[in-house]
Amino acid sequence: MLELATDKVHDETRQGEAFAPFLSDPIAYRKRFYIESYGCAMNFADSEVVASILNKEGFGATRNVEEADLIFVNTCSIREKAEQTVRKRLTEFRKLKKNKPGTLVGVLGCMAERLKSKFLEEEKLVDIVVGPDAYRALPGLVEEAASGQKAINVLLSRDETYADISPIRLNSNGISAFVSIMRGCNNMCSFCVVPFTRGRERSRDADSIIHECRELFENGYREVTLLGQNVDSYYYTGDGSDHADTVTFARLLERVALISPLLRVRFSTSHPKDITDEVLHTIARHDNICKYIHLPVQSGSTRILQMMNRTYTREWYMAKVDRIRELLPGCGISSDIIAGFCTETEEDHHETLSIMEFSNYDYSYMFFYSERPGTLAQRRYEDDVSEEIKKRRLAEIVEMQNRLSLESNKKDIGKTFEILIEGDSKKSDKDWMGRSSQGKVVVFPKENFNLEKGDYVMVRANDCTQGTLLGTIVE
Ligand code: SAM
Ligand code: SF4
Repeated sequence: MLELATDKVHDETRQGEAFAPFLSDPIAYRKRFYIESYGCAMNFADSEVVASILNKEGFGATRNVEEADLIFVNTCSIREKAEQTVRKRLTEFRKLKKNKPGTLVGVLGCMAERLKSKFLEEEKLVDIVVGPDAYRALPGLVEEAASGQKAINVLLSRDETYADISPIRLNSNGISAFVSIMRGCNNMCSFCVVPFTRGRERSRDADSIIHECRELFENGYREVTLLGQNVDSYYYTGDGSDHADTVTFARLLERVALISPLLRVRFSTSHPKDITDEVLHTIARHDNICKYIHLPVQSGSTRILQMMNRTYTREWYMAKVDRIRELLPGCGISSDIIAGFCTETEEDHHETLSIMEFSNYDYSYMFFYSERPGTLAQRRYEDDVSEEIKKRRLAEIVEMQNRLSLESNKKDIGKTFEILIEGDSKKSDKDWMGRSSQGKVVVFPKENFNLEKGDYVMVRANDCTQGTLLGTIVE
């Protein structure tokens, strides 16, 4: 596997994850739904909104697909491979439908939006197709499909943010939660399908975000990650009648941070062109805003960046990294990188490797370029780097990142970090697993301390692997 998934924003280990049933839920449901999710954290957060909408209409969740009356797949279109995974998964539902006639299969999310009614033509077993802005219509669409018709709603909206819907968190560790703050994207990165599948950018009502975060905190959560394709362009103007209502991303971050010093705040994703000094100063002012920024570079070559329509140069990006290091010493930085974009030469590729070294990324998500239908790049440029070269370059990028991650962890040995405990370590219930403010996974023995998940504890790093710091509690 060449894609690294070292933090939680696009977590490979969660791909295809199904919802747990509502525990101790006394209602007798008229129907059971099963939903599994693919792609980025936004999709996983959306599935929680869908669960909430369905639950209000009397549908209960199940983790057992065979028990389900409704099977939903929340899909991703970002790379061809993501779509192939979903297509393959759909074929597995054919037998289930045969064994249990009346079972309905629904496709949600980006693939639904991209393919629209073509999905119904191409995949005969699909009964319902719903785009990311039409989830409120789901109960009606289910009814329509139950009466034997195919049901579809792929309308994109300029204002839908699901602000009033309280997501149902079913697969959560009870400590960290994603909170969606905006939808869509107005950046037209030439390789990217998101502006077409998720529509125009819109910011969610700030008060509803604060309300959701406060409620999470009151329910024992200790970390929120504010989610959007481009969080730094968050801009909420209320009803527009009063300028005092205007909330920028920096202001929103601050308001969330002020809920409690015990609530950690993270955010993703920042577009390098939009992250401001005001945001960096806000992070610096509040201990509970995590010192970690996901700052996707995509390529280290100015020529390629221009073709990608990223609107910054190599030098501009490097200056931004310098500024982060100046205002936030010790801040973790991670990136997204694409290998083998159209016309990329060996020299361009080496510029990517050198900007990785310059930026000293703690982690990266690394991909080879996958041409997506309808994108600017597909219309303008030839996908002319062979698969063999793409894969070789990606392997070199992964190797570079592995070295940088290990070096970064080695530099932390001997240092003490405040860790938020998330639960038992994967390998042993005698060890805790938690994260530092910089987003690093830290594993340490529980010893005889009376700690619980959700507690903060000081831990000194004594050793490390490429992905984990190993430490001991400091009294
Ligand atoms: N909005 C975020 C941003 O701008 O960084 C994330 C968007 S996307 C969900 C996550 C990552 O997928 C992108 O940063 C990019 O590296 C990668 N990606 C998007 N389109 C791609 C494509 N056609 N081929 C390969 N990787 C792609
Ligand atoms: Fe895609 Fe660029 Fe928008 Fe990110 S900022 S979602 S890469 S168009």
